[in-house]
Amino acid sequence: MITEKFKALNSSISLSAIHQRMVVYALNETEELTHVNTVSRGKACKCKCLSCGESLIARQGELKAHSFAHESGTECPYAVETMLLWLVKELISAQRYFVTPELTISESTQGPLREIENREIFPCKKVIVDSIQFEKRSHNARPDLVLHSRGRELLLEILFTKKTETKKLTSFENRQLSTIEIDLSRNQLDTIADFEHILFTDSKCKRWLFNAKEATIRSNLRAQNLEQVALQKIEYEQKKIEKETFYATKNRQKIEVATQKNEKEYGHVSKMLPILLSERPGLTFDLNNKRIYYLMKDGGLWLLHGQRESLYIVAQNGNETAVQFLHELGINYDEVNLCFLSIQSRCQLIIDQLDRFTKTDKRYVKSVIKRSQ
Ligand SMILES: [Zn+2]
Repeated sequence: MITEKFKALNSSISLSAIHQRMVVYALNETEELTHVNTVSRGKACKCKCLSCGESLIARQGELKAHSFAHESGTECPYAVETMLLWLVKELISAQRYFVTPELTISESTQGPLREIENREIFPCKKVIVDSIQFEKRSHNARPDLVLHSRGRELLLEILFTKKTETKKLTSFENRQLSTIEIDLSRNQLDTIADFEHILFTDSKCKRWLFNAKEATIRSNLRAQNLEQVALQKIEYEQKKIEKETFYATKNRQKIEVATQKNEKEYGHVSKMLPILLSERPGLTFDLNNKRIYYLMKDGGLWLLHGQRESLYIVAQNGNETAVQFLHELGINYDEVNLCFLSIQSRCQLIIDQLDRFTKTDKRYVKSVIKRSQ
């Protein structure tokens, strides 16, 4: 319903009285939406309440803002909200379009490497309105508006003092009715022009309470997330392999360096041993006899398993620490064979002592190259 009176009043009309919950629009005798300033004073206004249909009186005093009151003096609980819905209906009918709010739908999933988020944004959209009516199908105390646009329906809900109840929201969902909430609870609504700004621009005072296509979009976004999780899993496995390969290579290099270093030192030891043995021809060995070398502070020390369970302990010339250490262990020096002599059963004891010194007493052992030869 577009009334000439309503159109004539237009944008500059003040709505500030609604913040005191005062009604400024009503239905006149000919069922037209009429502002309080355009009617006769008092009962003569011949207007009815938009919500309950009761007769109203027009209060047009000097001091207070003009408003309608119920003739019986009753407080009509939905009078203001219903009036606002009527205004929405009239303004949209007059313009024949409405601007829907932006719709952002996002779905996030934790992937093995990082969080995945996919979103779809539907910007504000100007929709052509073929008709707009009060929603008759819902049996709620507060009416909604249903807007028809190119064969599709869209519900409009007003938020003024009360939020839309969960029960009502569930009912929109069950009926798959896309619904937009128009938030008029903030104090920015002073004139019809402010109202028009909310309805016909990308104003932040509107939001989707329910959108019928959201479920499908969410399911598509979740499917995209799953695809990306699968790709991330491959990337994760590749990275894991790369990491393992990197550390394995690093480890191998470390071992190679250590081996080379060992070989270098050991090579020196290998050359030295035949010389020492050639100076001690009395030492007799079986094939593959065990030989252990220690590098001590003052030089090398060999533990050589000889024939008949003998243990030859040969200190490099000038290895005073070894000499002192072996004396402390009570091992005798054999002047004939130029080495300390013990028995193989004591070998482990000597090794244990040397190891203990390695850890605790730097006087004896600087470093150890212990190798069976
Ligand atoms: Zn009423």
